[in-house]
Amino acid sequence: MKAILLLGAPGAGKGTAAERIRDAAGYIHVSTGDMLREAVKQGTAIGREADGYMKSGALVPDEVMLRLVEARLQAGGPEDAYMFDGFPRTVRQADLLDQVLQRGGGGIEHVFFLDSPRDVLIQRLTGRRICRACGANFHQTNMPPKRAGVCDHCGGELYQRPDDCESTIISRLDVYNQKTESLIERYRLKGLLRRIDSSGGADKLAQDVLRVLQKS
Ligand code: AMP
Repeated sequence: MKAILLLGAPGAGKGTAAERIRDAAGYIHVSTGDMLREAVKQGTAIGREADGYMKSGALVPDEVMLRLVEARLQAGGPEDAYMFDGFPRTVRQADLLDQVLQRGGGGIEHVFFLDSPRDVLIQRLTGRRICRACGANFHQTNMPPKRAGVCDHCGGELYQRPDDCESTIISRLDVYNQKTESLIERYRLKGLLRRIDSSGGADKLAQDVLRVLQKS
């Protein structure tokens, strides 16, 4: 069981890059944000626990996240290659991921740190729109759909995530700085970190990541 990680602040482009890398390189995409939003929608026990934290832009407690991710990986086999998007976000989560991957006879191959300046992150998050049906990402100005409010891929309705309002965005960026940023150093010291400038748009970002994957 091996994995690559997409690490970076909210708005760094993890979700959009993940869609393209999944299609081009065949990794199993695990987005803990998507899993939690689905759990909230279904009204599961985890969804009910997570809802309030997500609305305020706080992190869902590690205990909940560890249950969610362990259950997701339990079904996996030794040959599986995962791409984590939005996980780990704390040191405890990173420790757990190391343990689970090692148990599965593998480990982390690369950690892609997607780096963009703060004003770019805020502009991306405030304009982001997502398809309710298939989850595809759009942006009002950077990546507009062909028809306003309608998904290019499946015709689904586009919506704005409730935590993409400006005050919650600021909280999420602060939480990232306090809880997640230190992971950059952890993976740099392990020789796994690849810094990718993610301010230049989704296509370039995905190409930069794919170039590293092709070489390895
Ligand atoms: P995302 O879609 O990755 O921006 O995540 C949306 C929200 O889900 C975050 O603001 C957190 O409340 C929660 N969340 C997602 N992944 C994690 C994680 N690894 N640890 C804790 N909370 C998470």
